[in-house]
Amino acid sequence: MLRIRAEEKALLIWNMEYARAAYISDEELQVIEQWTSGKNSGFSDRLKKLGIVCDSAIPKVKEAIVTAAYKKAPPRSFCAPESLHIELTSRCPFECSQCYKDCSGVDLSYEILFDAVKQADEMNVFQIALGGGEPLVYPYLIPVVAEIRKRGMASSITTSGFGLSNDLLSALKRVGLNHVQISLNGSCREVHSRSRDGYEYGVDALELLKNAKISFGINWVARMDNIDDLINLIEVAKNCRANNVNVLRYKPSPKESYENFCLTFEKLNLLESIIRNTKDINIRVDSAFSNLLCHMNKRTSFFSGCGAGRRFLALDADGYYRPCSHVDMKEESGDLQKVWYHSTNLAMFRSVAEKISEPCLSCRYMNGCFGCRSVVLGQGDDFFSGDRTCAYSQSSTSPSIISSRLSACSACANMA
Ligand code: SF4
Ligand code: SF4
Repeated sequence: MLRIRAEEKALLIWNMEYARAAYISDEELQVIEQWTSGKNSGFSDRLKKLGIVCDSAIPKVKEAIVTAAYKKAPPRSFCAPESLHIELTSRCPFECSQCYKDCSGVDLSYEILFDAVKQADEMNVFQIALGGGEPLVYPYLIPVVAEIRKRGMASSITTSGFGLSNDLLSALKRVGLNHVQISLNGSCREVHSRSRDGYEYGVDALELLKNAKISFGINWVARMDNIDDLINLIEVAKNCRANNVNVLRYKPSPKESYENFCLTFEKLNLLESIIRNTKDINIRVDSAFSNLLCHMNKRTSFFSGCGAGRRFLALDADGYYRPCSHVDMKEESGDLQKVWYHSTNLAMFRSVAEKISEPCLSCRYMNGCFGCRSVVLGQGDDFFSGDRTCAYSQSSTSPSIISSRLSACSACANMA
């Protein structure tokens, strides 16, 4: 199923089956327009091969091209989020040391949830990512997945695995769930338990998913106390036939000292080498690791860097919209479109690249990276501060920062 969205002099096309979005730029629009009039090209053939367009979509593509001529997006953003991240509940049976959330035990109201899903559909959002707390304990999980599917959007759930049974999984598949991500920080209980509770629920869930004929993957947070176990974790993922391992950057947690667990330069290099050398499974990298991505790709683009307020938006269990679930900047509103276009919080995120300070300001990757605001704010820095812990900083202030991080590396090497 394709969702086709007019953007400002561009198109965004989402293929739900392949969970793949394609951006058709201003210049490429002309080629696509010619294809809608029967003139094929190498570009249109490639898009067809990737499943991004098909002949039956021609009327909708034509209509979207007309609309794209007058659409106006917020600066450095799209006309709507690609995905909406919904915290269904802040209830969770665990007390993980790395958790950055206030697990106050609130469930998102049914009315707010279903209204947000309806508005997301009206704005042509592509995907709804359901999380928590622990989303599997939310009472309206099955109805909301069914509603998302009914409206032609994709849904995914990120869970510890707590409460996942064959019956629940079958019910979720029946109502159209597209994907499950299991949070697992280690290949064995000992490593996982350094930062998360509930190891057995994670591995039991993977065992269920292995034979369930549904797309699933593992969310793994890169930390000093589990980085040396990543190769083993990738083997676990391969053995259970997971589709991906999603490598997430460690974010500050109120229960831990960030400096003790964020990766040192040496361990970032190890992570890079593992990502480069892993075969037979898809390794994804969190956009909070935009510095690592820029370093690996040696280039930046409009799509790289923090996606908060640009590609996605979060709704928390109290019903507040946030640019990203990791930052405590929230606003109450019953109007998703108004938030997307007029929120001052989102405007701040979208203007980071224009206002950021060193070390990011003079970094060659700045335009496609500009660091992670959750990491910056979590260390007590101002919103527009550069990421002073970044190992890839090219600015004049970076050597001392890198060398102090390297000494931190040897100081806590035995934690890995
Ligand atoms: S602030 Fe950080 S965690 Fe949040 S979306 Fe941006 S990069 Fe990701
Ligand atoms: S210094 Fe800033 S812009 Fe440069 S790679 Fe690091 S986080 Fe990104």
